[in-house]
Amino acid sequence: STVPRVQLNDGHSIPQLGFGVFKVDPDETRRIVTDALEVGYRHLDTARIYGNEEGVGRAIAESGIPREELYVTTKLWNDDQGDYDSVAGAFDRSLERLGLEYVDLYLIHWPSPTRDRYVETWKAFERLRETGRVRSIGVSNFLPHHLERLLAETDVVPAVDQIELHPYHQQPDTAAFAAEHGIAIEAWGPLGQGKYPLLELPEITAAAAAHGKTPAQVVIRWHLQRGHILFPKSNRRARMAENFDVFDFALDEAEMAAITGLEREGRVSAHPDEVD
Ligand code: NAD
Repeated sequence: STVPRVQLNDGHSIPQLGFGVFKVDPDETRRIVTDALEVGYRHLDTARIYGNEEGVGRAIAESGIPREELYVTTKLWNDDQGDYDSVAGAFDRSLERLGLEYVDLYLIHWPSPTRDRYVETWKAFERLRETGRVRSIGVSNFLPHHLERLLAETDVVPAVDQIELHPYHQQPDTAAFAAEHGIAIEAWGPLGQGKYPLLELPEITAAAAAHGKTPAQVVIRWHLQRGHILFPKSNRRARMAENFDVFDFALDEAEMAAITGLEREGRVSAHPDEVD
């Protein structure tokens, strides 16, 4: 396959471009993930809270693709944070819904600092990894002050931090902290979830015209060249194919800088300290 892999700090590697299923209707997930696998995606990003792990699992089972060629991520929801029993129970149920014997990557979905259980939860993740049923462990929506606590109070450095990241919200402090500690960045909402007119901005449309590509392909290319792991979502097969067709061109330094210059702290979600 043409998708590069990113080396993680635990010896495993991950396909840099995948397919995400946030807000994919559980009844349609099997069909949509089947389309994504046929288009060529081999990395799938789901979560317990999306309610569609079963559909992802059925598409995987029906595809006949060897398990080792796939990369599957799921996430622990906030109300399952806590001691080992709570975390392992939630993990077992996710695995069961997915119909898998292991997942490649398991994430704490949000720090949920009001609960103040993410350090304890991370210690449970460390134990879970030892069972071999999860290859890599990471976090999501963690800011530097959350990561600092994990680094100070636990043994394993997260393999990834999956954060909201797109041209309007690049989280440079979190990205720099992660880079310093060998934590790979996964960019969620890589296209801004369609909530901003990113695909109409001249910095992006000009690059698209120059390369004969679409604005979405330019934004995906910007992420890839910044080193992010990403998994844009679409229900439409033509867009899945479009978003995957990004390995035959490269943005030059000026084009990259113009897009990076779009930062304006425009987040689409709540602040991670405020998500319970
Ligand atoms: P996204 O930025 O990938 O945007 C998806 C939307 O962009 C689509 O619904 C569609 O409207 C539009 N789109 C997609 N391809 C397009 C194209 N080629 N041209 C024009 N428009 C296009 O947003 P997302 O789905 O929220 O993020 C990607 C994945 O990240 C999710 O599916 C999920 O797996 C993950 N995610 C994680 C968290 C978290 O808290 N960890 C939060 C949100 C999303």
